[in-house]
Amino acid sequence: MNSFIDGDFDATKWENIEPYTSDLLERKLTCSGCLESLIKDTSTLAEHISEAGALLYIGMTCDTESEEKRNSFLDFSSNVRPKLSEFSDSLNRRIVGHPAVNDLPERYSLMLRGMRTDIEIFRKENIPLKVRQTELVTEAQGITGSMTVEFDGEERTFPQMSAYLESNDRLVRQTAWAAMSDRRMQDHERMSEIFDELVSLRHQMALNAGFESFTNYMFKAMHRFDYSIEDCLEFHSSVESVCMPILRDINKERAEALGLGELSPWDVNEKTGAGPDIHGREPLRPFQTVDEMVEKLSEMFHEISDDLGSKFDKLVDMDTLDLDTRKGKAPGGYQYYLEKSRVPFIFMNAAGLQGDLETMIHEAGHAFHSLYCGHLDLIDERNYPIEFAEVASMSMELLTQPWWNKFYNEEEASRAKRTHLEGVVFLLPWIATIDSFQHWIYENPSHTREERAEAWLSIRARFGPQMDWSGHSEFKEVSWQQQGHLYGVPFYYIEYGIAQLGSLQLWKTQLGNPQKALDDYANAMKLGNTRTLPELFSAADLKLGFDEGHFLTLMESVELSLEELPV
Ligand SMILES: [Zn+2]
Repeated sequence: MNSFIDGDFDATKWENIEPYTSDLLERKLTCSGCLESLIKDTSTLAEHISEAGALLYIGMTCDTESEEKRNSFLDFSSNVRPKLSEFSDSLNRRIVGHPAVNDLPERYSLMLRGMRTDIEIFRKENIPLKVRQTELVTEAQGITGSMTVEFDGEERTFPQMSAYLESNDRLVRQTAWAAMSDRRMQDHERMSEIFDELVSLRHQMALNAGFESFTNYMFKAMHRFDYSIEDCLEFHSSVESVCMPILRDINKERAEALGLGELSPWDVNEKTGAGPDIHGREPLRPFQTVDEMVEKLSEMFHEISDDLGSKFDKLVDMDTLDLDTRKGKAPGGYQYYLEKSRVPFIFMNAAGLQGDLETMIHEAGHAFHSLYCGHLDLIDERNYPIEFAEVASMSMELLTQPWWNKFYNEEEASRAKRTHLEGVVFLLPWIATIDSFQHWIYENPSHTREERAEAWLSIRARFGPQMDWSGHSEFKEVSWQQQGHLYGVPFYYIEYGIAQLGSLQLWKTQLGNPQKALDDYANAMKLGNTRTLPELFSAADLKLGFDEGHFLTLMESVELSLEELPV
C-alpha cells in the first residue's frame, strides 16, 4: 500500500497540495530505488489532482450557466495549475539531473524522454499566458454552449436542431440551418476577438520558449516524437488526391438524387456528410431515449464479446454517464478518466440521431481503452497518446457496424452503415482542413481577419465539397468558429486522421477475421502509454503511414463496401 497520501484530501486547493510537493522536492534521494519511489509518489499525487480538476471540468461542462461552477474551474486553473506546472518542472529537473537516473530500469525510458522534452520547452513567463488562455477558452465555450434558437415553437439546443437538418423537406432544412448560422453570426465578432488574442498569446509562448513558431513549439509540447510537420503535409496531399474524388462522386450522386444542380450547406453536413436520405425515406432514428440507447448498447457489446459487454456494464453501474442534450450543457462529447477512482466518465448530447449513436460508441471506445490500461501502475503509463486513443474510439465505431441491427431493421442498418462509411470519406478532408488551417494560422501569427478568411476559403476550396453558399458568404468566412478544437486544444486534430487510418485497418482485419480484430484491439489498448506510437500501431498489427499508397488501399476497401451495400 502506498502511504504517501493517506485517504482523501481536497486537491482543488494549493495549500492542501503543497506539503506533498515540498516533500517530493526536498526528500533525500540516494539511489535509483529512491528515484522510483519518488516517481511512484508523484504519480499518486498527480492522480488526486487530475481527478479534482476533472470533476471541476465535468461540473462546468454539464452546467455552463452556473457561474459558481465556472468560477471553481477557473479558480483551479488560475491558482493550482500554474503552481503545479512550476512544481513539475522542478521535479523533472530533479529526476533527470540525478546521477542515479541512468540506473533506472528500462520501464522508465519513455517517461524520461517526455520529461526531457517538457524541461526543454518550460518557461516560467508562459504561466500567466496559459492562465489567460484558459480564461479565453472558457469564455468561448460559454458562448457556444449557451447558443439556442427558437424553432418549431420551442427554444432548442444546437444538437437538438441537427435533427431538422436530416428532414426530407428542403425548406425545413434550410430554415433550420439559417436559424443556426444566424445565431452564430450574433457572436462571431467576440469569437473572432477571442481567437485573435489566443493566436497572439500562443505565438508569444513559442517565442518565449525559443521557438520560431507555435507550430514547432506544439510538436514538442504534444510529444509528437514519431511524425513531423512534413508528414502532416503529406497527409493533406494524400487526402486531396485519394479522398476528394470519392467525396465529389458521393455529392454528385446526392445532388442528382435530390434533383439539385448543386448542394447547399443544408443538404449535406460538410464535416460528417450527414443529410437527408437521398430516396426520401424517413431519417434514421436509432433510439428514442438515452435509457433505450444504453440498454441496447449493453446487449450489443455482450454479443460482440463478454469482455466488452462487461466493460460497458461497468460504465452503467458506476453511473458516470451524462448523455442527454439540454440547454446550458457544453456542446460535443468527451470521455474523461478519473485517475484516482480509475473510472471513466462519458459526456455527450444525445438527441436520438444516428450521429449520436456513433458518438456514444466512440466515447465508449475511449472508456474501454481506459479500462484496458487501468491495471498499469503509474499515471504516466496509463496516459496513452491521443493518436492511439482515437484508434480505440474510431475503430469501435467501425467494428460495431455488424451489430447495428440492434437499433434498426435490415434496410435501416444498411443505410446507417452507408451513412457512417460515407462519413469516413467526409471526415478525412475535414481533418485535413482543420489541420491545414492551424498550420497556416500559426505560421502567419500576425495575419488580419481578412487574410484569415481568405486562407480558410482557399483551404475549403481544396478539401471541401462543391456547394452553393449564396446568401451566406459572411457566415462561410467564419464557419471555422464551429470547430471548438481551434480554441480549446490547438493542433489537436490530425490525431483523428492518424487514428482513422489505423481504425480502417482494424476494420479490414475484422472483415477477414473478426476475432483477430478484437484480440489486436485488446492487446494494443492494454499497453497504455508504455510503448511508442509506432509500437502501439504494431501491437494491433497496423501500419503507421501517411502516403498516398496507404490511403489508396484503405479507401478502396471503403469504396468496395459502399458498392456492396444496398442503396
Ligand atoms: Zn475521441
